[in-house]
Amino acid sequence: MPKRALITGGSGGIGAAICKKLAADGLQVIIHTHRNQVKAQALADSIIAAGGDAAVLAFDVTDAQATALALQDLLEAGPIQVLVNNAGIHDDAVFPALGARQWQDVIDVSLNGFFHVTQAVLMPMIRTRWGRIINITSVAALTGNRGQVNYSAAKGALHAATKSLALEVANRGITVNAVAPGIIATEMSANAFATDAIAQMVPMKRAGRPEEVADLVGFLASEKSAYISGQIISINGAMT
Ligand code: NDP
Repeated sequence: MPKRALITGGSGGIGAAICKKLAADGLQVIIHTHRNQVKAQALADSIIAAGGDAAVLAFDVTDAQATALALQDLLEAGPIQVLVNNAGIHDDAVFPALGARQWQDVIDVSLNGFFHVTQAVLMPMIRTRWGRIINITSVAALTGNRGQVNYSAAKGALHAATKSLALEVANRGITVNAVAPGIIATEMSANAFATDAIAQMVPMKRAGRPEEVADLVGFLASEKSAYISGQIISINGAMT
């Protein structure tokens, strides 16, 4: 019986690469989406065509009730043993201009979304005595970034949550880590950074590829990473 992996935001750039990698590694992947069901289904179809196992699940991670309902159904079919909390948004503004809505929305998806999804998945995972929780955060939480006080606060809180949860589940065969990417070539970053800005900001003079993040996540999701927990692992072309 293959292990089941849930990847939130699996319809996005980094999420899709993670879904493909985990499926290629033999996991059954549940591709989570919010609005982009067509894209998520196309991804599932391509994984299945390549011999993998994939399904799509849609819900809004900011909606506690909708998340609980969707996950209840999913968990009735068996535990999730690999959880990648990857859904995230940014909504940038310099702090004096940052609206309350922008603050709330970004915290809601990254941080409250982490809470809603992880809490539902955790007890069944604990019962199996094996699990991997991987939170996708950001270099912005480590170095700060102008215009991203809300985003770096949300991701920084995830770093702290990663460390505390890792301690709570360390003796249950479950690891909890954060992967903090720098600039990765997806739609999200295309809207945020011009090419010459990337060359200035990144010592390696290029954006990372979603597949590079997915390879790291694949390792953290595997048996081989059993002794790595409570860590914030950067992948950023030497930005720090
Ligand atoms: P995308 O914008 O491509 O994907 C974001 C994903 O989050 C989508 O699948 C989207 O779902 C999902 N999502 C957004 N809001 C909600 C919600 N309310 N409920 C459920 N799902 C939601 O982003 P990336 O792939 O670039 O980023 C993925 C992660 O990596 C994010 O957490 C981001 O902060 C982080 N990151 C990205 C970097 C980059 O340079 N790209 C750098 C550092 C970190 P849907 O589209 O289906 O609605």
